[in-house]
Amino acid sequence: MQLEAILEYQKIDGQIVNLEKDLAQNPYKLKCTQLSQTAKDSQVKSSQLEQQAGSILREMDELKKTIASTKKHGEDLLKKNVESLSVDKINENLATKDKVVQNLALLDKRLTKLAESINQVLADYNKTVKNYNEAKAQYQKYKTAYDEAALAVQPKIDELKLKLASIAKKVPADVMEIYNKKRADKIFPVFVKAMGNNCGRCRMELSASALSKLKRENILVCENCRSVIYQD
Ligand SMILES: [Zn+2]
Repeated sequence: MQLEAILEYQKIDGQIVNLEKDLAQNPYKLKCTQLSQTAKDSQVKSSQLEQQAGSILREMDELKKTIASTKKHGEDLLKKNVESLSVDKINENLATKDKVVQNLALLDKRLTKLAESINQVLADYNKTVKNYNEAKAQYQKYKTAYDEAALAVQPKIDELKLKLASIAKKVPADVMEIYNKKRADKIFPVFVKAMGNNCGRCRMELSASALSKLKRENILVCENCRSVIYQD
């Protein structure tokens, strides 16, 4: 296999790989990824809080209904004509009235608690929405900065790609095909020189049978890192 041209091609392509790697590790880019995660988390949290608020409000409605009917029950007891009732009945009604009053106090307490929780949920919700909006605004800022960095690198990448196109003419089609496939699989460098009995990329020691195949065919795909190992 004629590797001279592809090795020259790979050298230039390596510069593109490095530029792309730098861009991928650009701090603005990392910040964007972080902020978009924050925005997503805030969205999930705000919809959870919305559900929570809904269920508290429903519980409050039920409670208000119970309070109203308990009050009415107490008032009905007082409306009864005392003169027409026996002493026992009057005592029974008074005891019931006391219970109703106690009950109302408990229900009121519960209502106050619910009002406190709904306020807390609403405060959390507002905070979450604020976080979301801030994350979005910041994302836009960092995205613009990243786009500018990417744009600044682009002419250099274009220039290198032009060089690649001219070298590609000298590369045999079958070699180019292998190269492009590996490159698409993010394997780089694609072609590596053997380092003694080891793969030149991942340093894995080659088996005796792999070594004899390498001697015989002059190239070998590394079982570990999938690079193509060659010998001089
Ligand atoms: Zn390897």
